[in-house]
Amino acid sequence: MTWTELISSLSTNPYFGAGFGLFGVGASAALLRKGLQGATILFRRHLMITLEVPCRDKSYQWLLKWIAVRGAKKTQHLSVETSFLQNDNGQVKTSYDFIPSIGKHLFQYKNNWIQVERTREQQTLDLHMGVPWESVTLTAFGNNKKIYFDILEEARELALQATEGKTLMYTAMGSEWRPFGHPRRRRPTSSVVLDLGISEKIISDCNDFIQNSLWYTHRGIPYRRGYLLYGPPGCGKSSFITALAGKLEYGICLLNLSERGLTDDRLNHLLNVAPEQTIILLEDIDAAFVSRESTLHQKSAYDGLNRITFSGLLNCLDGVASTEARIVFMTTNYIDRLDPALIRPGRIDLKEYIGYCTQYQLEEMFKKFFGDNEILKSAEFAQKVIESSRSVSPAQIQGFFMQHKSSSPQHVVDCCSSIWEN
Ligand code: ADP
Repeated sequence: MTWTELISSLSTNPYFGAGFGLFGVGASAALLRKGLQGATILFRRHLMITLEVPCRDKSYQWLLKWIAVRGAKKTQHLSVETSFLQNDNGQVKTSYDFIPSIGKHLFQYKNNWIQVERTREQQTLDLHMGVPWESVTLTAFGNNKKIYFDILEEARELALQATEGKTLMYTAMGSEWRPFGHPRRRRPTSSVVLDLGISEKIISDCNDFIQNSLWYTHRGIPYRRGYLLYGPPGCGKSSFITALAGKLEYGICLLNLSERGLTDDRLNHLLNVAPEQTIILLEDIDAAFVSRESTLHQKSAYDGLNRITFSGLLNCLDGVASTEARIVFMTTNYIDRLDPALIRPGRIDLKEYIGYCTQYQLEEMFKKFFGDNEILKSAEFAQKVIESSRSVSPAQIQGFFMQHKSSSPQHVVDCCSSIWEN
């Protein structure tokens, strides 16, 4: 059979014709698919704008809340986040926040349609939090980046409104600071009664420091200030620092130096990445090293491991520098247990003794509790307590007043010797 005969017989063969037709359809479908894919990529690349926000980013939680409250508020697919809120009389209420569930949501913002896709990786963990890695991707038409900027700003403002008038507390998790507990209602500094002038002195020192960044920059001095409040327990060291943070509109980063797993490197990192507008609070600074000495005698498998060293702490304190004002507060009940190297100027710039009640404090506390008119009774009460020559902490006085909150001021004066009975 010649070639021409073969071709003409194939072209008249119905099976071959059908197969060839099928091949043609398949090939053009594949071509079309490729073309469409290419067009989609081109379309996405040039005519759409996307923003990915990973769960490690600060704005991630703000954005989720914003999407649920402002953006995709009509979405029917939600996840719940339970939190505890403290209202003005101190009561704690449970609140349920809805955030968009995993998957896709669509909403309109300033005349733009925006698709939100929240994804969760099953294989990848956020090592710091121990939760699956998540991200949110926003996709919109056009190339206007400002729309994302506006959304992030709105989300931030919404988050700030929720904590307005509150003090945020942070704790160290891994190498990061995470908010912990519910934001605390600000406590006025006047509610912590320190001896005459001490409160004002510390507040004005902090304000001075915060307002004088240029002074530090011009002299090349690290922009940080260290404070040490020392004195017996229950005299208001922690309460005052919390109230001060509220007054300065700062948060508090609370760090426990005796925590296992806190190495010099981690401490250094934490001090340098503390959120802006926060006070770093190192409580009971003496305990970090005392407890280590006592455990040295017991020799457990962990001794010497994963703990900070004294020289490490000094280096970290010296190294804390940032463009923002960096305020470090330390407290101790036993100043005599502290190494002089720790409290030298530069590390500690202001030391204040916060001690047992003075006559002034007793009078002020009495008036705060039983009314400003009770000037005479407050003086009588303070006189009697001072004459007993026994030290009393403001915490004890507070407890005593609480016990007698429905008694008459005269009765409180009369039974003041029972302060020491509990
Ligand atoms: P410290 O840190 O010195 O051990 P705290 O600040 O923890 O003391 O005080 C314990 C409790 O006593 C708090 O509930 C606080 O309200 C009360 N308290 C202590 N000192 C004062 C003070 N100077 N004025 C008012 N309340 C105080």
